Amino acid sequence: MQVCTSVKELSALLDQSRNKGQSIGFVPTMGALHEGHLSLINRASQQNDIVVVSIFVNPTQFNNPADLANYPRMIDADLQILKKFNELVVFHPAVDEVYPENDSFLPIDLGGMDEVMEGQFRPGHFKGVVHVVHNLFRMIQPTDAFFGLKDFQQVSIISHMTKTYGFPIQIHPCPTIRNNDGLALSSRNMRLSENQLKEALILFQTLDFVRKNKSSYSPEKLKKMAIHFFRNSTLQLEYLEIVDVETLKPLTAEWTKDAACCIAAYCGQVRLIDNILLN
Ligand code: AMP
Repeated sequence: MQVCTSVKELSALLDQSRNKGQSIGFVPTMGALHEGHLSLINRASQQNDIVVVSIFVNPTQFNNPADLANYPRMIDADLQILKKFNELVVFHPAVDEVYPENDSFLPIDLGGMDEVMEGQFRPGHFKGVVHVVHNLFRMIQPTDAFFGLKDFQQVSIISHMTKTYGFPIQIHPCPTIRNNDGLALSSRNMRLSENQLKEALILFQTLDFVRKNKSSYSPEKLKKMAIHFFRNSTLQLEYLEIVDVETLKPLTAEWTKDAACCIAAYCGQVRLIDNILLN
């Protein structure tokens, strides 16, 4: 494992790989690594000659300053976890390395995909995500990039932006890793108490209910029933939507071929998201 903090250092290292015709896999993260991140890194290692893992808490994607301030940062523990990987480069840049003064980023139209669900409740979030991923793609020029379906809407938007900017990068959506009870792993879970970890299971229980009852009800009816689950919960539901996977538009009377149910809820001060694909 090698650690780079500057783009210059990173480019020199990756140029050596490119000159040898090696493929470069990229896994962007914000650190506080867990098994979900490791599943992406393992897949990238299986499919590529060299893997770059970025650890960068991106300020432009946080709409809430308290959320940014409280986001867990533990670079030493992260590096300890990544030590076991061969052919791995950790990119851990400062903010002005990712956003230089001569930043050539030009925003694109996300066709409303950034205005629903996460976009509705975290205004500007996806503009920040697109900006950081664009700049990291330009710096790293990977052949492959790996993203978790835990952030389902993000995967759709990244796939869209990769096509729009014409990046020759294969995007690999990877399954959500859960604990034994079904709770999706997240860096934010470490801010939950024992009790809250149990209460948060309602997210997966609700999604599982939707998956099991898809064939019996319309999306509209099932959404109403699922929202009802939160009536007696301590979690504060922010949204629950059943959407078409391609367009992210809410489904009402009819199911389309590929649908997803997406949830965001507050467990105390901690905002959790989860989703399930309903193919
Ligand atoms: P983050 O550090 O939260 O920005 O996440 C970095 C990458 O890991 C993103 O592509 C996430 O979707 C992915 N990820 C986070 N949690 C999980 C999980 N439980 N299972 C699979 N991938 C995940």
